[in-house]
Amino acid sequence: MKSELIKAAFNAIVNNTKDLIFIKDENSVYYAASEPFVKMTDKSTVSEVIGHTDLEIFNSEALAKRYIADDKKLLSEDKDLINYVEPITDEDGKARYASTSKYVLRDKNGKKIGILGITKDITREYIARQRYQQEFKYLFELPKDTYAVCYIDVDDWRIICQRRQNISDGTIQECQTVAEMCEYAIESIADESCKAAEFYRNFTSERLRDVYSSGRRTLSFKYERIMSDNSSRWVRNDVNFLTDADSGHLCVMLSAKDINEIKLEEQRLFEAAKLDSMTMLLNHETSMEYITEVLANENDRQHALFMLDIDNFKDLNDNFGHQAGDEFLVEIAKELKNHFRESDIVGRIGGDEFFALMRNVSEESQIKRKAEDVLAIIESISSEYKNINLSGSIGISLYPKDGKTLKELYAKSDEALYKAKRSGKNKYLFI
Ligand code: GH3
Ligand code: MG
Repeated sequence: MKSELIKAAFNAIVNNTKDLIFIKDENSVYYAASEPFVKMTDKSTVSEVIGHTDLEIFNSEALAKRYIADDKKLLSEDKDLINYVEPITDEDGKARYASTSKYVLRDKNGKKIGILGITKDITREYIARQRYQQEFKYLFELPKDTYAVCYIDVDDWRIICQRRQNISDGTIQECQTVAEMCEYAIESIADESCKAAEFYRNFTSERLRDVYSSGRRTLSFKYERIMSDNSSRWVRNDVNFLTDADSGHLCVMLSAKDINEIKLEEQRLFEAAKLDSMTMLLNHETSMEYITEVLANENDRQHALFMLDIDNFKDLNDNFGHQAGDEFLVEIAKELKNHFRESDIVGRIGGDEFFALMRNVSEESQIKRKAEDVLAIIESISSEYKNINLSGSIGISLYPKDGKTLKELYAKSDEALYKAKRSGKNKYLFI
C-alpha cells in the first residue's frame, strides 16, 4: 500500500515537473522520465525513452557514452553528485545553465539498483549572480574614484561589510549601523533639501522594499558633500538592489564616487553653451560631436547607440500643461544622466527625444539590462501622472555591427525606434 503511495507521488512529480527527471536501472536502462527530459532528448513520447539506453536515445554517441561512463563512476564510487552546474544549449541554440544532481538508488538490502537524476534550469539565478559580479568586485577592490562601498542586508537591517579609501585627502567615515551611516550621510550633504538628503532621511527597509517592488533596481544621486576639512566636493551615490545569493535576502550595495572633476567640466560645458539649457544634457550638436569622436578613437570596441522617445508625451502637455511637460523632461533627463556611466554620452535630440551612447560595452545582456532599466525609470516617473499612458520607446544600434559612422548608426537607431513605436510602444528594439 505504502509503496503504491510513493509510486503515485513520484508519478505526480514526473508528470508535472518542469525539471528534467529520470530513473535508470543499474545497467543504465531508462525506467522513468519526465516530459521535459523526453523533450530534451528530441524524442516525442516517453515510451521512446523507457527501456532504452543513452546510446539509443541521444543523437550524439560521444554524449551518450559520457553519460553511461558517468553512471558507472557514480555507481562504483557510491557518492552522489549534488548540484553540479553546467552550461547547456536549448532548442534555439541559446546558452542556458543547468544544475544536476544524481543519486544512487538502493533496495532494502542496500544493493545498488539504479540512479535518480534531476536537472534544474537555473539560467535566471545564474545570470543574476553574474550580473552582480561587478558590484561584488567592489568589496574586494575599490575603483580609483570610489570613496566607499557599503553592502547592507535590507531584511536584517544591518551592514554586512564595507570598504573605503582616501581620495584627494578625504574619505568617508566607517559606520557600525545603518542608522549611523544615514546620520553621517545627512550631516555631510551640503544642500539639505536635495534628493539625496531626502533619500537618507527616509532610508528604511520598508521604503527600500517599496522601491524594489516598483521594479527599480538602481538609484543614484549627485550632491555636494562637505568633507572633514570643511571643503566640499561633488559625489555620486549609486544604490544597487540585489538578492543575496546565499541568504536570499534583499540587499543594497551603496557606493560613493568622487565626481568633482566631472562636475567642474560640466560647468565649463554649460558656460560654453554646449548643454541643452532646459535639461542640462549635452545638446544635439555637442552629443553628435562627442559621439563622432568616440567612434573615431575607440574603433576597436563595441558601442551601443540608444535613441529614446517618450510615448504619448503630447497627452501630458495637453492635460497638465506645458510646464508640467517641461518638468517631466527635466526629471527624465536627470535620471537618464544618472543612470548611464559617467563616460557614456547622454544628450537631448530635441522635444521628447534623447540619445545615449553606451561606450565600450561588449555584452548584449548589459545593453538589454540598461534598456530595461531606462524603461523602468520612465515608468516610475510617469506613475505620478495619472490617466496618461506615458512610457518610453527605444531603438538601439550597435557599432560597428550596424554601422561604422554616426550617420549610419543614427539612421539605424531611428529605424528601430520607429519599429518600437509601430509595434505598440513601451519597449526597446535592436535594429
Ligand atoms: P509618440 O508616442 O508617437 O512619441 O507621440 P507623442 O505624443 O510623444 O508626440 P511626439 O513624440 O510626436 O512629439 C513630441 C511632442 O512634445 C511635440 C511637442 O508638442 C512636445 N514638446 C516638444 N518639445 C517640448 C518641450 O520642450 N516642452 C514640452 N512641454 N513639450 C515639448
Ligand atoms: Mg514622443
